[in-house]
Amino acid sequence: MEIVVIISLVIGILLLNRPVTLLFQRLYNRHQFKRFISRETFYHSVISRHFRYYNRLNLEEQRKFLFRTYLFQHAKNFHYIEVQETAEMPILVSAAAVQLTFGLEKFKLNYFDDIFILRDDYHYGFYSRPFMGHVDQTGIYLSWDNFMKGISGQAANCNVGLHEMAHALAYVNFITQTEEDKHFKKEFPNFSKVARPIFTAMQQGEGRDGEGRAKNLLGDYAATNYHEFWAVAVEVFFESSVPFRHELPELYEAMACVLNQDPLNFISGSTTIIRRPEQEKKSKTSPAKELL
Ligand SMILES: [Zn+2]
Repeated sequence: MEIVVIISLVIGILLLNRPVTLLFQRLYNRHQFKRFISRETFYHSVISRHFRYYNRLNLEEQRKFLFRTYLFQHAKNFHYIEVQETAEMPILVSAAAVQLTFGLEKFKLNYFDDIFILRDDYHYGFYSRPFMGHVDQTGIYLSWDNFMKGISGQAANCNVGLHEMAHALAYVNFITQTEEDKHFKKEFPNFSKVARPIFTAMQQGEGRDGEGRAKNLLGDYAATNYHEFWAVAVEVFFESSVPFRHELPELYEAMACVLNQDPLNFISGSTTIIRRPEQEKKSKTSPAKELL
């Protein structure tokens, strides 16, 4: 008899686990949305000053962008190393992650609880060259001066915020598998079908000293390994979309598919950069739910 009770309990817990989690998630989002409303203007003023990407979105998308940024920021612990903390910093760093994942359902990069902001280039491990940022099992690391250069467009093709978030996105989907986005995982093999041959051509050459290796706008650093290829391709996709689509049209298309967004859509007059039309919204869903 006891066994029957225990088995029923286990089955009950298993069956109820997902609906209960979803219910809590919905209640949490609703609660956070109320708090977000009072901060929305401030988030808008910070992000609209620095993110060209944000300024191209329509009003509904802008609100979704701000709310996601708010949720992302409040899901992380930010640490400041030799740099003076400001209220803008965690908002702008969170916005970089939100830009990358804007076409996806999962956007919190959940494995990472900690984000470290350092003043400028730093040394890490046994590497001799300085780092602008990196991602490892302890968190996401970014140097603030390089981050700001990236979002202000001062450095061509370079955006360390997007670069590190791209590593983090691959990390949570393929390494820890803690926050898998169905669309991203399904499309990534299709991205690789196009990307791998380009990457291999960049790595292999007949001559010594890199002679004969394929060169393209992604640059030599993208040929370091496939992780770097992915992160650099993300940077160039957003920072130099027009030359990217012109020079590597198939790779551009594959990137737009896997991220489910096309930054060039606004040029063709589309009202959204998101590719999949969102599901019909039900009138009963709460504003918080609709935004996500
Ligand atoms: Zn990298």
